[in-house]
Amino acid sequence: MTKSDVLVIGSNMIDLITYIDRMPVEGETVEAPDFQMGFGGKGANQAVAASRLGSKVSFISMVGNDTFGKQQLANFKENHIDTTGVGIGTKSSGAAPIFVDPTSDNRILIIKGANNELTPEVLDKYVDLIKNTKIIVLQQEIPLETNYHAIDLANQFGVPVLLNPAPANKDLDINHVSKVDFFSPNETELATLTGMPTNDMDEIKQAAKHMITLGVKNMMVTLGSKGVLWVAKDRGELIPAVKVKAVDTTGAGDSFIGSFAHYFAQGEDVPTALKHANQYAAITVTRRGTQKSYPTWDEMKALSG
Ligand code: ADP
Repeated sequence: MTKSDVLVIGSNMIDLITYIDRMPVEGETVEAPDFQMGFGGKGANQAVAASRLGSKVSFISMVGNDTFGKQQLANFKENHIDTTGVGIGTKSSGAAPIFVDPTSDNRILIIKGANNELTPEVLDKYVDLIKNTKIIVLQQEIPLETNYHAIDLANQFGVPVLLNPAPANKDLDINHVSKVDFFSPNETELATLTGMPTNDMDEIKQAAKHMITLGVKNMMVTLGSKGVLWVAKDRGELIPAVKVKAVDTTGAGDSFIGSFAHYFAQGEDVPTALKHANQYAAITVTRRGTQKSYPTWDEMKALSG
């Protein structure tokens, strides 16, 4: 039976990044100057971050029966992620065609493909993985019902669960969210879920406190270069970000979540784990790319002297 430090249940996608001079109009073909492929998907990104820091990571996810699926599996293995829970679906692998124009503005399409085949029934095959971990990490690129089932199973087995409600989904059922130990939205996602304004720090605090009254144990609202606001029942504080020169913030949120899960699984208390997650995410924004910007434990040590 596999015991892990961190179990991620979630998505994987292949990013198809096309650098364009301009978007073609209907019926037109335009040459684009450059193209890059990258490994992505919020679940996979978070699993990679925790694993690079040294956690034993298991992943429950679905890939397609295609070339992208094989490449994803190879990437998980290269990152020392246990793939017992990675299944092969009937749809295509998840893919994200991304168009980046010369001003760095993005247009992104998401094809969830096999990620939508990660149904609640699939989780029942991996109850052993769910029981035998220190923390379960969820995002929202798989069906919401699967996350609800994961939260119920985690509660049943007494395993702490972290929900990162990204991308925002207004259909998320607040009753299920209230049963999580860690809830980590950004300001926009918090506003979508609560229907409350989050335009300044006071409003963000009010919305976070509202979630605590509903039963969430820890709110961790990520605030980009401002850091993270932690709110628990009787405590809370703003844990400031590390000041760095950001060059690419894609995947920063995922590096933050994955690294928090790692530090928590190592036994750190919540504010300490959040401080370390801020440090980890800050390094990733100084480098280009998503997973490739995530440092290993050794790199972290070298960078912090
Ligand atoms: P998301 O991409 O999900 O909206 P955020 O932008 O809030 O997530 O970033 C997540 C975390 O990454 C922040 O809480 C912070 O720790 C770190 N981070 C993001 N942007 C910066 C930045 N410019 N400088 C330093 N840290 C950053």
